[in-house]
Amino acid sequence: MSIFRTVMALLPALGMGAMLLNASADDLASFCQQLPRPAYAAFEKHPASNSWFEVYEVEPGVFAIYEPAQWQEVISYLIIGNDNALLFDTGNGIGNIQAVVEQLTDKPVTVLNSHTHFDHVGGNHQFSQILSVSTAFSVANSRGLDNEMVKTEASPEALCHGLPPGVTQTDHRILPFEITGQVREGTIIDLGTRKLEVLQVPGHTDDSIALLDRDAGFLWTGDTFYEGPIWLYFPETDLAAYRQSIARLATLAPELTALFPAHNTPKASPDLLIETQKAFEQVLAGTARSTPAWEGAVTFEFDDFGFLMRENYTSLDDEEKGSE
Ligand SMILES: [Zn+2]
Repeated sequence: MSIFRTVMALLPALGMGAMLLNASADDLASFCQQLPRPAYAAFEKHPASNSWFEVYEVEPGVFAIYEPAQWQEVISYLIIGNDNALLFDTGNGIGNIQAVVEQLTDKPVTVLNSHTHFDHVGGNHQFSQILSVSTAFSVANSRGLDNEMVKTEASPEALCHGLPPGVTQTDHRILPFEITGQVREGTIIDLGTRKLEVLQVPGHTDDSIALLDRDAGFLWTGDTFYEGPIWLYFPETDLAAYRQSIARLATLAPELTALFPAHNTPKASPDLLIETQKAFEQVLAGTARSTPAWEGAVTFEFDDFGFLMRENYTSLDDEEKGSE
């Protein structure tokens, strides 16, 4: 398993830009060389695709809007009901996601974020209806991020091809957006013929949510699960909360038919939630093997996913010590 969605992507945001990394030029090249990911062969690229976004209809009325040429490989989802549409995340804010969405639906579109890390809220400013969990973290992130914090995301090493017209490394930033409505555990978003339920799954961040379509058995997992190294490294990550949240999602797995994660691959087997929960317990028990990612960070790799964690956060006890 490759360590990308990359080990380097979030260093500036963590104030770690100067830190020496283990990632070599070969690793960086491998991010682009591993594309296209084989999982995408199962889906037909939709005509709304353009040079920045690839669009795949992963289920009828469910579009994965993927940013394959940028190292986050983030995936936003447009979910279309009879009356309304929901855009679950808006990506990096590098390409024009609103233009893509307009090609896919003429229904009113509301935005909801899986959480408010910059790679999921970049296009929020293009929309007028934005639902959010209300935590101090999400409110702070709604103010946007200046170029210094995200310029690496638009740098040559983050990209497999050029930026869209009008976007430069020195201009790229996350524009502020206005939260127009709140959601919380149990909120139902009724799109007409499709109801989506908000599950609060704190851990990766305190504002992380998953979105459940109970009738179809679909679960949008955000960054709580994806096929890749799941980032549990941030200061805002709460490992004890993540443990509970992944356990909760694992109990849902028997009722689910598909997962739609927020990075790398657009559709995954619900069984992987159970695998992830088991693997995370192994990490916490100290029985999983780690490899160094960079100074102070380690990766625990499993077959289809992994965890990127602080070296001294390998158990909940250590986490508590670390937060003193
Ligand atoms: Zn995130």
